[in-house]
Amino acid sequence: MEKLIYMDNAATTPVRAEVLDNIIPYFTTKYGNASSVYKLGQSSKKAVEAAREQVANALGADVSEIYFTAGGSESDNWALRGVTEALKEKGNHIITTKIEHHAILHTSQYLEQIGFEVTYLPVDKYGKVSINELEAAIRPTTILISVMTANNEIGTVEPIAEIGEIAHKHGIIFHTDAVQAVGHVPIDVNKMNIDLLSLSGHKLGAPKGIGAIYIRKGTKINQLIFGGAQERKRRAGTENVPAIVGLGKAIELANEEMEDEVKRLVLLRDKLINGIMKAIPYSRLNGHPTDRLPGNCNISFAFVEGESVLMLLDMNGICASSGSACTSGSLDPSHVLLALGLKHEEAHGSVRFTLGYETTDEDVDYVLEKLPPIIERLRSMSPLYEDYINGKDNA
Ligand SMILES: *Cc1c(COP(=O)(O)O)cnc(C)c1O
Repeated sequence: MEKLIYMDNAATTPVRAEVLDNIIPYFTTKYGNASSVYKLGQSSKKAVEAAREQVANALGADVSEIYFTAGGSESDNWALRGVTEALKEKGNHIITTKIEHHAILHTSQYLEQIGFEVTYLPVDKYGKVSINELEAAIRPTTILISVMTANNEIGTVEPIAEIGEIAHKHGIIFHTDAVQAVGHVPIDVNKMNIDLLSLSGHKLGAPKGIGAIYIRKGTKINQLIFGGAQERKRRAGTENVPAIVGLGKAIELANEEMEDEVKRLVLLRDKLINGIMKAIPYSRLNGHPTDRLPGNCNISFAFVEGESVLMLLDMNGICASSGSACTSGSLDPSHVLLALGLKHEEAHGSVRFTLGYETTDEDVDYVLEKLPPIIERLRSMSPLYEDYINGKDNA
């Protein structure tokens, strides 16, 4: 097989072998509907409840507070739409940030269309939300605060426990999109004052199309998906038993291994970051230098297009992603990088490498070998770079 260096684990991860082993019987022999009364159905139900316990344990939650969904996007939609609808008599204001995932941002825009008011908090140059600015944004009509635990593009980890404390001081419900954090950052919903938390399977070694939401007991939230009586009548739809089993196993594994795996990834990540910064002039690290996800390396290279870098990396078997989002055929610079204060061309020149449990030291060496000549080659074709260098020589 051709060489493949996968450094896009924030986009998705491979299903772990142990997880796949656990899942397969639920496709082949244990395929019963978890709502059926006969033994075949009841064995599916048992598997779903065992997975619910695995998820609850990983978050410090009670099993009755975990609901399975079809992924991070659904959990985010449910949290925002469900709470605002349930509390619309109490107030019409919510607070979120400029750097959220589109599942939060586009839901917030929809809420604005139907009459809610939304404050999008700015972040500092490292991507951190300011507690003071959060507190200043709170109004008597604020019913919900939603701030992500860790950012998917730049890896910055937010001060979630403090944000939750402020929310609770003002009697406001606190939701966090923890899709990138679960399995990489220790989570305890009680210690961190979290009322609602979104997570997704395919970001931590489980299949795509499965996720969960934690809903603190007593939190007012309407239902998003109507239909059957599954998930204690709060989320309809026949349970995706294999994927649920996979999510339970993946989250349990990730939590068991977290301490060692975080140490390993931080070493690899910092080797990659420092290696790139040393070898490639006019490069800058995006995100927080230390409060960042263990596998995240996001770097802007002046005078190049991230998309061109990705193509040349791909020709060398390296998968990464860029600071541009392809929407409606045109390339928009990432809203996250713009929120840090980067100029459009800086955002366009950004590349994100996200390491995972399969990433090895050799993979990092390989990227450190291939990347510098790629940037140099692209810069050699850039008139901007030529002008800059000539200008410098004349100065
Ligand atoms: C991937 C991601 C989502 C969406 O999760 P899906 O399971 O793909 O729907 C939401 N938020 C963040 C931060 C993500 O990284």
